[in-house]
Amino acid sequence: MSLPSLAELSDSLRVVAIPLKQKFRGITTREVVLFEGPYGWGEFSPFVEYGVEESSRWLAAGIESAFVGWPAPKRDSIEINATIPDGTPEEAVAALNFFQGCRTAKIKVAGAHSSLDTTRLIEIERALGDSGKIRIDANGSWSVDEALKQISAFYEVLGNTLEYVEQPCATVREISQVHEKLSVPVPLAIDEGIRKEGYTRDLSDIADVAILKVAPMGGVKNALHIAKELDMPIVVSSALETSIGMRAGLALAAALPNLFGACGLGTVDLLGGDVISHSLVAEDGAISLRDVAPSLELLDRWAAPSDRIEWWQHRLTTTFEFLESR
Ligand SMILES: [Mg+2]
Repeated sequence: MSLPSLAELSDSLRVVAIPLKQKFRGITTREVVLFEGPYGWGEFSPFVEYGVEESSRWLAAGIESAFVGWPAPKRDSIEINATIPDGTPEEAVAALNFFQGCRTAKIKVAGAHSSLDTTRLIEIERALGDSGKIRIDANGSWSVDEALKQISAFYEVLGNTLEYVEQPCATVREISQVHEKLSVPVPLAIDEGIRKEGYTRDLSDIADVAILKVAPMGGVKNALHIAKELDMPIVVSSALETSIGMRAGLALAAALPNLFGACGLGTVDLLGGDVISHSLVAEDGAISLRDVAPSLELLDRWAAPSDRIEWWQHRLTTTFEFLESR
């Protein structure tokens, strides 16, 4: 990918700070850089603790959106799953209600409220009603033995409503052990394990589904390439982007030949605001592909404080220089 100049990125640069409806990933405000190119807008929003190499993939994805464009879509509407953060059962049901018409819920487990996980799952299953599907995401929290025990226990409660368990353990090696020893028919999905290790090989012998996100993979084209290497059904997920970043996730979901069910691209609903006036959120459980551009009024409303704008300008420069040097 040929890069624009830093000046081209900076010309249209805006930094926004949007409050979250509920604490997620330990943060309460989402800071995002946006810039415009000939193909539209791009988002650069690596989490603040990320180093320059990791951040450079997010920048490459944002540049692709604005200056390169995406492959032709194979479908024009993407089914969406609800994303339910850690919390009490009441908070979980409230979160589910943000996702209008979604029949699949992905629930974070093994967090601070883990003693309430089973109750939350039962409450969500009830709220979804018949034909609802539940996915569980442990974010690598369990040991192999804990995973075997927990997955069996959740299967006891949910039966075939349990569609898969995502990233039960931290490493690909541990997940492969769970895959081998698991005595209940619950598929396993691999998420952060793909980015942290070994995504360049076929992982179909150790997991059943792979989760891909556009920004950490360096863009739609790179993610499509990785999907081809992985050679298994793919669920596209997001990283708490605004509608601008989410549009890239939809572009990946639309272009994938082997998409598996609903995608985790409904997370604009977790933000307390957005930069476009008609947000990319699920309607009747799906999002239709369309062009998006920020509204000036919303860019002004969510403008970050000046010290944070400076911080992000510096980070963009450092990350751009890193990307350019590769
Ligand atoms: Mg995950």
